[in-house]
Amino acid sequence: MTTLQRPGRLSGALHDCAAPACGSQVPAEFLMCKRHWSAVPERLRMEVWYAYRNYQRHRSLETHKAYQEARRKAIKSLTQETAPA
Ligand SMILES: [Zn+2]
Repeated sequence: MTTLQRPGRLSGALHDCAAPACGSQVPAEFLMCKRHWSAVPERLRMEVWYAYRNYQRHRSLETHKAYQEARRKAIKSLTQETAPA
C-alpha cells in the first residue's frame, strides 16, 4: 500500500511575505505571513481577498490591476502604521 499525499488545495509553492523587510516564507495563496496579515485593517483584507478571488475567476488585465491595487494599499497600511516593538 502506498501512502497517499494528504489532500489539499495548496500548491505547495512558497514566496516571501509581502510586508517590507519581513522575509517569512508563506504559501502562494497568501499575500503575507499571519503576523503581518493580521496587522492589515480588516477592510483592506476583505478588499484584497475579494480582488484576488475575482482575479482567479476572471483573469484579465482589469482584475489583475484591481488586485495589484488592493495589495499595494494593504502593504502601504503596514508601512504607515508602525506598531511599537
Ligand atoms: Zn511578514
